[in-house]
Amino acid sequence: MKSEKSISRRNKKGSYIVEASIILPVFLLAVIMLISIIPVIATCEGITYAAGEEMRRVMAEAAFVKSPASLPISAAARAKSENHNLTSLRTRGYRYLYSDAGIDDLITYKFRGNFSMRNPLGLYSKIRFDGTITGRAYTGSIHDDEPAGKDELVQDDAYIPVYVFPNWGKCYHGRKCTFVKANCQQVYLSQDIRRRFHACPLCGAGKAGIGSPVFCFFESGEAYHRAGCHSVDRYYIEMNKKDAISKGYGACSKCGGE
Ligand SMILES: [Zn+2]
Ligand SMILES: [Zn+2]
Repeated sequence: MKSEKSISRRNKKGSYIVEASIILPVFLLAVIMLISIIPVIATCEGITYAAGEEMRRVMAEAAFVKSPASLPISAAARAKSENHNLTSLRTRGYRYLYSDAGIDDLITYKFRGNFSMRNPLGLYSKIRFDGTITGRAYTGSIHDDEPAGKDELVQDDAYIPVYVFPNWGKCYHGRKCTFVKANCQQVYLSQDIRRRFHACPLCGAGKAGIGSPVFCFFESGEAYHRAGCHSVDRYYIEMNKKDAISKGYGACSKCGGE
């Protein structure tokens, strides 16, 4: 009985070693492959940045000089000087100042970058990276479209902030109303609130994450609170006057809602 037990235990130990010797190399290889992807992505980004910056220059210069051939040359030169493992940056397509879907002065540059990268195992792998950038050149051309009318610029539903107590009362108030001053407002926790107020230790407000609802006494308080704190009795929220009226709130008889 005793010897049988010790044999089975030894078998178990042996199976762990066998399992580890199979899994571990595979796991390590996977980690190495993951790490080796990082410099590849960095080079792809470097190429895109160089092409994008040259594109920006050509777009800005288009108002003064039309240079329909310069971008592929300057982008390739810049990408090579900034990314030393880049073998070549070839142009797959290039269109200068064309119109598409009613938009004029477009420039499109399609490129193919070839580079090789040595991975941690010492092997070189060849990488091909294709990209396309489209931009609109600044040519200073004037379009004789109809100018926007006054109606498009003036908003008649301007935002007028009023304050309502969602769990108490049916009135909307102005900021200076004594009801508003005496109570706290429900806001969403931001960095700004964190700077202006400290977290109430009684309700564990310090645990509240950015964006979660908290309650502040903007007139008199120094702390922000979470729901359920004994100091949070009635609270108000801000909303547009138009929305308050459509929700059935009436103007406060004390402040007239202003
Ligand atoms: Zn009021
Ligand atoms: Zn509190």
